[in-house]
Amino acid sequence: MVKKKTVKKASLKKAKSSAKKHVYFFGGGKADGNGSMKNLLGGKGANLAEMAGHPSLKLPVPPGFTITTEVCTHFYESGKKYPAGLTEQVSTAMGKIEKIMGKKFGDAENPLLVSVRSGARTSMPGMMETVLNVGLTTKTIAGLIKKTGNERFVYDAYRRLMTMYSDVVMEKSAGLEPAEGKGVRHQLEKLMDGMKQAKGVTLDTELDADDLKELCVKYKAKIKEVIGKDFPDTAEEQLWGGIGAVFSSWNGKRAKSYRQIENIPHEWGTAVNVQSMVFGNMGKDSATGVAFTRNPGNGDNNFYGEYLIDAQGEDVVAGTRTPAPINKNSQNDQNRNEAMLEKVMPKVYKELHAIQNRLERHYRDMQDIEFTIENGQLFILQTRVGKRNGPAAVKMAVDMVKEKMISKKDAVMRVKPLQLDELLHPIIDPIEEKKVQPFAKGLPAGPGGASGRIVFDSDVAVKWFEKGEKVILVREETNPEDVEGMRAARAILTARGGMTSHAALVARGWGKCCIVGCGELKIDHREKTVKTKDLTLGEGDWITLNGTKGLVYKGTLPMIDATKENRYLVDFLKICDSERTMKVRTNADTPEDARKAREFGAEGIGLFRMEHMFYGEGADEPLFKLRKMILSNTEEERKNALKELYPHMKKDIKGTLKAMAGFPVTIRLLDPPLHEFVPHQEDQLRELAESLNVDMADLSRRVAKLKESNPMMGHRGVRLGVTYPEITEIEARAILEATAELVAEKHKVAPEIMIPVVGTDTEIVDQDAIIKKVYKEVCAKYGVKKLPLMVGTMIEIPRAALTAGKIAKVAEFFSFGTNDLTQMSYGFSRDDMGGFLIPYLEKKLLMEDPFQSLDQEGVGELITLGIERGRKARPKLKVGICGEHGGDPASIDFCYRAGMDYVSCSPFRVPIARLAAAQAKVSGKSK
Ligand code: PEP
Ligand code: MG
Repeated sequence: MVKKKTVKKASLKKAKSSAKKHVYFFGGGKADGNGSMKNLLGGKGANLAEMAGHPSLKLPVPPGFTITTEVCTHFYESGKKYPAGLTEQVSTAMGKIEKIMGKKFGDAENPLLVSVRSGARTSMPGMMETVLNVGLTTKTIAGLIKKTGNERFVYDAYRRLMTMYSDVVMEKSAGLEPAEGKGVRHQLEKLMDGMKQAKGVTLDTELDADDLKELCVKYKAKIKEVIGKDFPDTAEEQLWGGIGAVFSSWNGKRAKSYRQIENIPHEWGTAVNVQSMVFGNMGKDSATGVAFTRNPGNGDNNFYGEYLIDAQGEDVVAGTRTPAPINKNSQNDQNRNEAMLEKVMPKVYKELHAIQNRLERHYRDMQDIEFTIENGQLFILQTRVGKRNGPAAVKMAVDMVKEKMISKKDAVMRVKPLQLDELLHPIIDPIEEKKVQPFAKGLPAGPGGASGRIVFDSDVAVKWFEKGEKVILVREETNPEDVEGMRAARAILTARGGMTSHAALVARGWGKCCIVGCGELKIDHREKTVKTKDLTLGEGDWITLNGTKGLVYKGTLPMIDATKENRYLVDFLKICDSERTMKVRTNADTPEDARKAREFGAEGIGLFRMEHMFYGEGADEPLFKLRKMILSNTEEERKNALKELYPHMKKDIKGTLKAMAGFPVTIRLLDPPLHEFVPHQEDQLRELAESLNVDMADLSRRVAKLKESNPMMGHRGVRLGVTYPEITEIEARAILEATAELVAEKHKVAPEIMIPVVGTDTEIVDQDAIIKKVYKEVCAKYGVKKLPLMVGTMIEIPRAALTAGKIAKVAEFFSFGTNDLTQMSYGFSRDDMGGFLIPYLEKKLLMEDPFQSLDQEGVGELITLGIERGRKARPKLKVGICGEHGGDPASIDFCYRAGMDYVSCSPFRVPIARLAAAQAKVSGKSK
């Protein structure tokens, strides 16, 4: 008998040593893994290993082990089976935990309880499953009661285990999909509510041991009734049920949809972390909390966090109780009267404070820490890079450079380009806001302002959003099932929850306006109403949120842009500027736009569309003259009209060149199809006829002649200059005379004349000759030898990209007009794509709208080729982009890699482009 056992052990040992390592242990100051192993151990597992085992940390982490993401992959590839050796490795690791904790898993006398949690490479808050208190069974309950002397605590833990396990393992993971409100969790919660009602109490904590014990009996029966199976009563069965459920939850509906939104690859898989339980709900000397090494809402360098006495972690995140502040910096209007951890448990607070310092220094980034205090003893459950909103990200990056914690390069990579949008987001006009009273106040969980119509359901939010409605999702609290609705909403408002509740975490991650914990709101999801003492609102009613202050207003309020006063943004963009080499210009068509763009940091104008000076405020008179020019019948008529137009052109160009103070200004010659400028109103036509001295019939004939069946490929761009050289001539004259006058006035100017819609080198040769002739005339007129000027072209026709070598012989610069280049590469009409884009995206025939984010594979190839051939002919050829893609971060990265000198985008996107250009450089992917 004895001999047999020895043999078995020996062969097991052999099998173990040859089996692949699936399980990584951590605890007791040691760890098999480390922080760099995120791909294998998941973010959480790698961090736990780092925290437990790294010599400069060795934190009080409850011991445990991580089952690798490779096991998850194997699980899915082999029809939900585990690889060989896993069972043995888990059991060995469990033995180590037992040794450190001095407890035994499934033991009747001194039972060890564990948690089973997911952990993917990047955090997916609340998207996958967790089961706590695994190991509580009929057999172990008695032992734990004896050991802790706290019967109430044990039954409370048991009913929590039953709730989570039946929901996660027995229902969700088993693929059961009960109807709304019929799920087992909901049914158990109803039993809990019934019990509270029967006892006349409102809080779970007010139920005593007997109540909870009775509730556990009811729970068991209910689980059997709803699911048709007994609640498992061995520790081992619970453990493997939990592990399987976590792996299964990787492919759960909400995890999948979150991955889609966040672009997380489906094949990554999750790890499973099994860890000794420590309890924050062991009584008044126990607590649990979440803390950030800096304030994630505004970036202030203050330790910031919330905690709850006598509670488990899920209570803080679920938002069922309003958490207390850990210190003074974490106080707000809602929690001001709650006792601070710093006061209640000063020793533990001091230890926690020291640890957070160590963690931030070690990771060199803001950390989001989960901690638990069990009978006065502190445990660190988790640390990860904390999610933060845009303003906080910018401030932290700037501060950490000043504190010499990170390099400028690190700082550049710490802010996502789209996060800057939050700083450029509208806020409620403060003057208007002062005039009105908020009807409710909550916690400011996501910055900026937003107006929208109330919806109470996530599904409705999505539907209304698709119809083009602005919606605000109003809910008692949110849970991961609401993710799509939250995405669709302009803002989120919840009645419950703290700054670390689900709604707050998700909104912060997305930089969305959000208010949580607005306790005075009584929300009735069935009736679809939200009430305060003296106000009732329903679905579809308009409200406005100030997410920075947590204020809720009835109706809509005007918004303003909040960017200019942010000195951190200015400092941050300076850091970006010091790290980037590619320039950022702007597309601006008026002196006013040019000034605004300079404020945003534009280093020139990449596209001044000549025709745009005929739109908008004050453009009536020049527009009238332009129309006269377009409808002229003879060269003489046209020359006369152009003469009248000339002073308007010159004035705008001069103003813009002056506003750009020596930065280059690319002025594009008239481009649009002419019929776009023909008026449709009778009175305007009559006025034109009179001014041209023709009758209405004649004018109608002239208008009809301008009509084209395919205007996008018609008489536009360079073709206008070819057919009417006098147009090019007058434009060149306006540009050069404005330049000559500014030079004489001692201003620095750098005009660049750009010829649009060029397809052949002969076209640019033709136009260049006209410009050169005017250049000589203007030099002579102003008595100067030379004037600053470059002549170049847009590359927006595929043929131009292909024949770039010939074109560059004349053109001194290229600017890729990727709007037209995309249109003509795909053959998708810019103006009509709306009619078929959605099905293309839905069917995944296109991954993105190619007019929004550059098609790097096709259009990008033309750009690369064009640059290559152009620079071969003219090595110093200046190259930029002025299509809409110039403001899109992914496209900017491409432009940098393609070797462009600059990108040009609309003024409001200039800061984003400055950051994206710096990131492209820092990530070092230059060609
Ligand atoms: C382009 O085609 O990319 C461009 C910038 O010109 P427009 O949009 O005026 O055609
Ligand atoms: Mg174009």
